[in-house]
Amino acid sequence: MQVTNRSMLALRGGDPVRSTPFPYWPVFGEKEETALLHVLRSGNWWYGDKVRSFEERYARFQDARYGVSCSNGTVALELALRALGISAGDEVLVPAYTFIATATAVLTVNAKPVFVDVSEENYNIDLDHAETLVNENTKAIIVVHFAGLPVDIDRVETFARRRGVLVVEDAAHAWGSQWKGMGVGALLGMGTFSFQMSKNITSGEGGIILTNHKDVADLARSYTHCGRTAANVWYQHAHVGGNYRITEFQAALLLEQLARLPEQTRTRELNALYLNERLSAIPGIRLPQHDDRVTRRSYHIYMFRYLRDEFAAGSREIFLNALRAEGIPASQGYLTPVYGNNCFQDLRSVPGLERCSSERFCDRAAVDFSGVCCPVAEKLCREEAVWLPHALLLGDRKDMESVVAAIEKLYAHREELEHMGHGKGKRK
Ligand SMILES: *Cc1c(COP(=O)(O)O)cnc(C)c1O
Repeated sequence: MQVTNRSMLALRGGDPVRSTPFPYWPVFGEKEETALLHVLRSGNWWYGDKVRSFEERYARFQDARYGVSCSNGTVALELALRALGISAGDEVLVPAYTFIATATAVLTVNAKPVFVDVSEENYNIDLDHAETLVNENTKAIIVVHFAGLPVDIDRVETFARRRGVLVVEDAAHAWGSQWKGMGVGALLGMGTFSFQMSKNITSGEGGIILTNHKDVADLARSYTHCGRTAANVWYQHAHVGGNYRITEFQAALLLEQLARLPEQTRTRELNALYLNERLSAIPGIRLPQHDDRVTRRSYHIYMFRYLRDEFAAGSREIFLNALRAEGIPASQGYLTPVYGNNCFQDLRSVPGLERCSSERFCDRAAVDFSGVCCPVAEKLCREEAVWLPHALLLGDRKDMESVVAAIEKLYAHREELEHMGHGKGKRK
């Protein structure tokens, strides 16, 4: 048999499965250019009709009554918690496997994040674990629709009602995601989205709070708008707020991005379906569990678990290096569960926390995260998670075939990869 270069691992100098890039993100074109120029030439650059129009359209798109735009997804979470009255002495349940902002938003309102492990079946918050962490200080739970896959809304609703806690949906991955035909975000009271540049709709930076409750929406609006309320005159400020407004430029971009979203979501879903079908046949590649109640799914990340013993090719690091060498932009995602970051392991290093030294929260014992351990989140971060970026899912069938081909190639060369692992001393 003739051994061609192509059959040799790219990591060892063979030809990579692909050498062309996947689609570029963000996607934009004439529509965005025209919209931006229109705002520029109008001279109305500030917080006007386009912002209102985007808020209304986005709220409707996610089946929510009210939308309050703001600077970014981090601020959206902070203001959502504030609008719900979360403050010093309160505890908020948060998943351990998420972007840092889900948990730091809780600190910002001087409350204490309590880390809950996630399920290895779908990477979303594990409510059985959450049950064991509830106490009389627990005021809220933040659920993250991780990678765009909605949490079990029915279970969260039951949990919240029984335990008397408020719910915030951190929907920063879930633009367009639906549970039983309804857009996520305000299904359980209140939710937040991000429009930062890596996200599936973007204006560079941006965020929105969605809710069905007018009083909460009004309060959130006031916090983004220097504490103004509709009832006050211009230089009368009812609340201590900030300036978290977005501009007409951002809103103009977001309106065009939103117009593209349904089609892009469909493309990503179809491509993900194809990848699921093909990759599930490869030993050691474990995909998230499907739930029929998820009627539309945003893919912010295409994530699967790499099980080294079944794949038998050594550590995830070697698998990722080999996969990237074949031209597939895979990453390991978060390096550690949220609580593993220095800002949680040594809270005194967080600037600003001195300010609340009189609060119950700042009692050292109450903020010691050194003993926290969420085994599934640890395993995902340190050994198993593999992330493919959402722009990859905007490619065509050939692009998806190249992803499958690359992973199949690694599987075919698993012994070789295993030995390379030994050579580098990477095995446990
Ligand atoms: C991106 C993200 C945020 C924060 O959004 P920014 O707009 O970047 O501040 C919050 N939560 C999750 C899960 C995110 O991925």
